[in-house]
Parts: sequence; C-alpha cells; structure tokens
Amino acid sequence: ILKLNIMSNENKSIHEFDFNLICEYFSSMERQGPGSPDATVNALRFIDNLTNESRIADIGCGTGGQTMVLAQHTSGHITAIDLFPTFVDLLNTNAAKRKIQSRIKGIVGSMDNLPFRNEELDLIWCEGAIYNIGFERGLYEWHKFLKTGGYIAVSEASWFTAERPDEINTFWQDAYPEIDTIPNKVAQLQKAGYVPVANFILPESCWTDHYYVPQVEAQEVFLKKYRGNRTAEELIANQRHEALLYSKYGKYYGYVFYIGKKI
Ligand code: SAM
Repeated sequence: ILKLNIMSNENKSIHEFDFNLICEYFSSMERQGPGSPDATVNALRFIDNLTNESRIADIGCGTGGQTMVLAQHTSGHITAIDLFPTFVDLLNTNAAKRKIQSRIKGIVGSMDNLPFRNEELDLIWCEGAIYNIGFERGLYEWHKFLKTGGYIAVSEASWFTAERPDEINTFWQDAYPEIDTIPNKVAQLQKAGYVPVANFILPESCWTDHYYVPQVEAQEVFLKKYRGNRTAEELIANQRHEALLYSKYGKYYGYVFYIGKKI
C-alpha cells in the first residue's frame, strides 16, 4: 500500500527527495490504489440524499481518479483533499480540462485536520485512503462534519476469512495492523455512529486491470529513468512484491466499500 501517510502534527521522516520520487511514480497512474469507475458508481447507488446544493468531500483523493467519476454522477460541489501538492495539482488540471473546475476544488490538507465546519457535508468519500489515519479514528473524527442524514463511503483493506496463511497475515500486520474481517469493520462503523447501509467487495479487476497492470509499464519507464537509485529500486521491488502477494493470496483479502448513514 502507498506508504505516504503523515498526519499534520508529524515530521516528515522520509527525505523530501524520496517523497517527490514516490509522488512522481504514483502520479503517472490514474489510480494510486485499488478501485475503478464501476466500483465508485456502485457505491454511489446507495447514496440518496444528493442535490445540486450538496457538499461532498473526497478525502485522500490522490490525483482524482474517483473524484472525476463522482463529479460525473453527482451535481453538488466536491472538495477533494490530499496531503501531496503534486497529486492535487494534477487533479485541478484535469478538472479544468473537463471544464468542471467550478464544481471540483482540489486542496492540499491532512485528513486529521480537515477544514470543514460541523455538519457542513452531505457526503464524505474516501477510497483507499482512510488507512492513513486508521479506519476507526477516521470514522469517529469525520462524523461531526456530516449533516444528519449524510453519508460516508470508504473503501478499506479487509480480510475475507477468519484465518489465512502466515505469509499474507504477517505482510498485512506490518503494513496495516488495523486490517480486519468484514463483520468487525461493520461493527466499527456502527459503533462510530453510522447506520451500516451497505458493503461490498471490490471486484478483483480493481486490483489487477485498474491498479497492478498499469504499473507494469510505468515501472519499466521509472526504473530506466532512475537506474541505480536505491529509493526508486526499493519502491518498485515493494510494488512488485505486493502484486505477487495479491496474485497468490487475493482470495483471503481485498478492498471493501463500507457505506454508512448518520442519523
Ligand atoms: N483515492 C485515491 C485512489 O483511490 O486512487 C488515492 C488512494 S492512495 C492509496 C492514498 C492517498 O492518501 C494518497 O494520495 C496519499 O497522498 C493520501 N494521504 C496520505 N496521508 C494523508 C493525509 N494525512 N491526509 C490526506 N491525504 C493523505
């Protein structure tokens, strides 16, 4: 998973050059995590409170792959937030190209210090990014920004089975110990103050066709450009390792969309 997670009160522990390099690699892809336009649209089907006046936040938006889909299928105003200016710049450029910059505003900010007023938002969207703050903490802290009747839709790494092979268990315990089974995640959603409206597993193509496959070519280009650079080589080795693990153990885990309503 993309380990570019810093909260607003932490020091950047990775050297700035490394950040720029990692951002450059992920900027070359439409998505920075597993997901797809179809999955975004499917999750949107459960949201029934939106109007032209709606305020939507897309948190950890990356370069805005899902933000553009949200904009196509809703008519309200979207504020898209990411920690990394390179991603936000790309998102704003894409919005301008599509002539929807009046409805989408990309801003740089941190998900633990969001610039919203209490009860301002009709919908909080967060694809493959809540792990940066942690699923439970994010659900609790963002609750106040939603109006009564508002929705939250987040995708989150989840176990499909109660038990799994050691190799994949160890990998995830190191990468994101908050990964848990679907019933446990749903219970956490409810405990944080939302009615669990729906959840569904993202199809395998969200990991393969939409995430790992586009990386194959991007990796070749990147390695050629940064031959001999340790950060670049480690980054690609990690991405390849992750893709291999998914091909081996994808039946035990994946991303799940969780949709909740504040009542
Ligand atoms: N939503 C996008 C997608 O699905 O393609 C990006 C997902 S990517 C796996 C996670 C994103 O979270 C990255 O764009 C990263 O820059 C962002 N991020 C990490 N820490 C953050 C923070 N504290 N506040 C806001 N965004 C953060």
